Amino acid sequence: MTDLQTLTVYGLALGGSERPAATGATFDVTDPATGAVIARVADAGADDARAAVAAAHTVADEWRATPARERSRILRRAFDAVTDRAEEFAAVITAEMGKPLADSRGEVAYGAGFLEWFAEEAVRINGRTAAAPAGTGQIVVTHEPVGLCYAVTPWNFPLAMITRKVGPALAAGNTMIVKPAAETPLTALLLARVLTEAGLPDGVLSVLPCSSPVAVSDALFAEPDLAKITFTGSTAVGRKLLAAAAPGVLRTSMELGGNAPFLVFEDADLDAALDGAMLAKMRNGGQACTAANRFLVHESVRAEFVERLTERIAALTVGPGAHADSEIGPLISEKQRTTVAALVDEAVADGAVLRTGGAAIDGPGHFYAPTVLDQVPADARILREEIFGPVVTVRGFTDEAAAVAEANDTEYGLAAYFYTRDAARVQRVGAGLRSGMVGVNRGLISDPAAPFGGVKASGIGAEGGSEGIGEYLNVKYLALPAV
Ligand code: NAD
Repeated sequence: MTDLQTLTVYGLALGGSERPAATGATFDVTDPATGAVIARVADAGADDARAAVAAAHTVADEWRATPARERSRILRRAFDAVTDRAEEFAAVITAEMGKPLADSRGEVAYGAGFLEWFAEEAVRINGRTAAAPAGTGQIVVTHEPVGLCYAVTPWNFPLAMITRKVGPALAAGNTMIVKPAAETPLTALLLARVLTEAGLPDGVLSVLPCSSPVAVSDALFAEPDLAKITFTGSTAVGRKLLAAAAPGVLRTSMELGGNAPFLVFEDADLDAALDGAMLAKMRNGGQACTAANRFLVHESVRAEFVERLTERIAALTVGPGAHADSEIGPLISEKQRTTVAALVDEAVADGAVLRTGGAAIDGPGHFYAPTVLDQVPADARILREEIFGPVVTVRGFTDEAAAVAEANDTEYGLAAYFYTRDAARVQRVGAGLRSGMVGVNRGLISDPAAPFGGVKASGIGAEGGSEGIGEYLNVKYLALPAV
């Protein structure tokens, strides 16, 4: 599986076995650091999608009746296996997605964490009972698995974005079909293999990589068995999937785009804010939905903050993720590099001050120099759109309320960060920021034990935490007679 030196052909993980696509088609997976083809993967189509539904149908009743303790043990064994094979997973993530090995190792720990967390949650799916206030009966509330779930995931966290869905779905007794991003199918297939080895019954989980998602998606949405779509990716695609889910009135979970503000107040611990800024912006080379896109810094500390941040960002080592000293890998594609370059060029043309970077790096791979833009004009496009690259934008402010209003002036509401030492301001600003997650004096907020999700155009629902399993359960009320 991980012998990436030689071109290997990978099959679909369908019904517990690895097999070619029904059409025999394959597609190439490339290393974004070199552009080289590293693997060839079976290219799923409509027939494969229907076969995965049939495989799930066959095992669904048995799986939902499997004791929670047994489902928990399977997830726990998968957690142990991913953890034992962390280096192998990290190497595959770096090879197909490009992030530095240190970031990949971090993702493996984070991604495995969802298997561990939901192994623990599987045995704590509790209902409640109450006496009807009028004395007319007993109210018994139980939870049931929703059924067959279709998961569509992005390339930027090829493991964690899948375990965050697979963990709770399987813990709750559902079946699932995963369509990973075409850029990163190998990590998904390796995870499927690990889950099979951990004892997951055939058909409970299928992984269907495909070069073009529409045929697989259309086939799945046409299936009466389909109960839920759970998506992580861009808001634009999320809107399409919400529309596709409407005719079947499917359950939906949407983890969509972000445009996180990062506020630094005049009383902030600047050393901590700089450390937090590096994490919130540069992890994954800025290719994260939680990436800080808009730095808003109080005018009294802006010059020092920008100076010191520029120094640290200019010192970052850019190179292939597999090189031990690389801190920033390539962008995922040439298209993404062109997008980032256009946003930066336009901001500079509009009057932003370029402090470092601002250009693509020549050579193979889609590298872009880590960049700092100061005094970005309020109406610049780069402040409205997700950058998804190693680019910092800074604007100054003098008034707290105006800064919070500017932070909220976006269609997105996923993550926000702020740094202050003032306890009253922690409460005020924490309450005032319109986002699903807020980092308070912290630049890294993701945790399998915490709910991850956005408001506004950033999504619907939350993954992780004790909230995450609820996305995969239907509430059922049994009305019993009074005793
Ligand atoms: P994308 O929306 O382009 O693609 C995501 C997935 O959707 C891929 O698997 C893709 O093949 C699939 N897809 C695209 N069109 C489809 C269609 N018509 N039908 C079915 N599937 C389709 O996003 P991306 O470029 O892979 O990832 C980056 C985006 O993901 C960013 O917007 C980022 O903010 C977001 N993201 C959000 C979170 C979160 O938790 N909120 C986490 C990571 C990434």
